[in-house]
Amino acid sequence: MLSMSPLKACRTLASALMILGAVSASAIDVVLAQDAPAKELFGGVTLPTRAAPSPYGSYAKGCIAGAVAIPTDGPTWQAMRLSRNRRWGHPQMIALLERFSQDAARLGWGSGILIGDISQPRGGPMLSGHASHQVGLDADVWFTPKPAQPLSPQQREDMPFTSMLDKSKFLTVDKRRWTDVHAQVVVKAASYPQVERVFVNPAIKKKLCETWTGDRAVLGKIRPIYGHDEHFHIRIRCPEGATGCKPQAPVGPGDGCDKSLAWWFTKEPWAAPKKDPNAKPAPKPRAMQLTDLPKACRTVLRADGAGNELEATYRPADGQVLVPTASAFVAPAQALAPPFELPVEVPVPPARPSGY
Ligand SMILES: [Zn+2]
Repeated sequence: MLSMSPLKACRTLASALMILGAVSASAIDVVLAQDAPAKELFGGVTLPTRAAPSPYGSYAKGCIAGAVAIPTDGPTWQAMRLSRNRRWGHPQMIALLERFSQDAARLGWGSGILIGDISQPRGGPMLSGHASHQVGLDADVWFTPKPAQPLSPQQREDMPFTSMLDKSKFLTVDKRRWTDVHAQVVVKAASYPQVERVFVNPAIKKKLCETWTGDRAVLGKIRPIYGHDEHFHIRIRCPEGATGCKPQAPVGPGDGCDKSLAWWFTKEPWAAPKKDPNAKPAPKPRAMQLTDLPKACRTVLRADGAGNELEATYRPADGQVLVPTASAFVAPAQALAPPFELPVEVPVPPARPSGY
């Protein structure tokens, strides 16, 4: 026992208690909640709950019941980095991605879209990568179109991201890479009524502000944020009737090509936080715990899962069920088992600003 980490010891205790039936389920919850960061609990679950789709909490602090997976391959999309097992979302998000993929292809965006992270099977915090994406209502789309020749699962693991920025300059879009079709695809994503925000790098937002000649009202939904130069991020609003879903404040009026954008081109967002030499060392930030999430997330975490991935895979509009790649992800031996050495492939924006 001595060499065991407190977390492992705690889990061992929890499972021992469970086997013995010595304590109630709620007591086990208490044991788990005390020690395991929520990202380890949610990051270890491989299938969604079998339930009516219900997001609980907010985009950056919540979970989802009844999520469905987007098929790994569709006529106008491919899901990337299958090993991450983050193809799960609210059916409204998945349906939107299907529709958007068709619209993007029609705009001349290759043969459709490459889809990055959506959410984990039950949402929640992730072991790597994002602060949001917790309720199945956020999705990342690559700035690289889907090639005509389908990518193999291995190619989808290995294919590098392509930045839209000219890294030799300060916050500048690379003219050799950015095209009118890029602009049309991003604005298309923002144009759907259910989409509340599309996050892009400030340089991309600036480029759109300077060049977009169509409807400017839609531009207001396109928000500048750290990172997001290799992919853009689509966020839809809380679905109607989803009473547990905490909405975000609506974006203000206007096209957003204003002072709030100009701020990104000052030194402030990029400066290291000022340190007070006399201040005590700050305590290590505490990882989000299960108790920090809405109570419903505890139930979501503990509920029985769908029988298998196919059963929980979204059916595209044409009714055809596409068989998921069998080796899409390697299931951990048990729901709570480490290791969690997932690669960080998506740039992690710093904590500021809070609107993300
Ligand atoms: Zn994202």
